[in-house]
Amino acid sequence: MALIVDQENLGTSEAQWRASQKLQGVDLLEPLHAKRILLVAPHPDDEVFGAGGLLQRAHEDDVPVEVIAVTDGEGSHPHLDGAQTRDLVRRRTSESVEALRRLGYARPNISQLHLPDSKVSLHRSALLAALTTTLRPGDWCVAPWRHDGHPDHDACGDAARQACESRGARMLSYLIWTWHWANPDDVTVPWESCRRLQLSRRERARKRWATMAFTSQISARDPQTSDEPVLPAPILRRFWRPNEVFIEESGGNDVVN
Ligand SMILES: [Zn+2]
Repeated sequence: MALIVDQENLGTSEAQWRASQKLQGVDLLEPLHAKRILLVAPHPDDEVFGAGGLLQRAHEDDVPVEVIAVTDGEGSHPHLDGAQTRDLVRRRTSESVEALRRLGYARPNISQLHLPDSKVSLHRSALLAALTTTLRPGDWCVAPWRHDGHPDHDACGDAARQACESRGARMLSYLIWTWHWANPDDVTVPWESCRRLQLSRRERARKRWATMAFTSQISARDPQTSDEPVLPAPILRRFWRPNEVFIEESGGNDVVN
């Protein structure tokens, strides 16, 4: 399945998701009791779109968070030359820092792996090694769902799941592109394993403010040739809803060694 995102391919509407009884009926996520959260972000923005509410909750509960920035996100603007791409990478990194600051993290802990955007699956062993060595007893790993629909997201989710299994760590999967290609009746989404984090008005407002830090993704892609942003508004709105949904991955237990 190829993931196509443009004005003609805006996926399942947010109105459809908001009206979904299935989504409203998803069980609540239990309170965080992690010693630390390892948040795997294939691209600089996934951590905030997928888990900006969870990040605020972790900060409030004094749970330390380490963001693993897997790629630098250089693939969002493929027409750029080398120097422009380096500027884009700097910009995307600082957007992520600013967004995390807006969620309460004055000095966010971000480890960058610099794997190539759109080619994470070719570097799976390096990613798996990085995650396995970073995971510690009592950590929760929060990563994209391994069937999210973007090859980098799927590769990150797959490696995270394997790392969690080998370390006996607990894993929650977040959803980004699933909201695009799936619909509330989609049987390929394991709804029974989903858990819902209900956001307060304040958390929701802060998350929305944080998403606005990613100007390279939400502004016109190239003002000279196109007004279309990488993430059009109907897609961005999915991440302003009053809840976040995570898939509770089975097979892992809290690390005891
Ligand atoms: Zn992504």
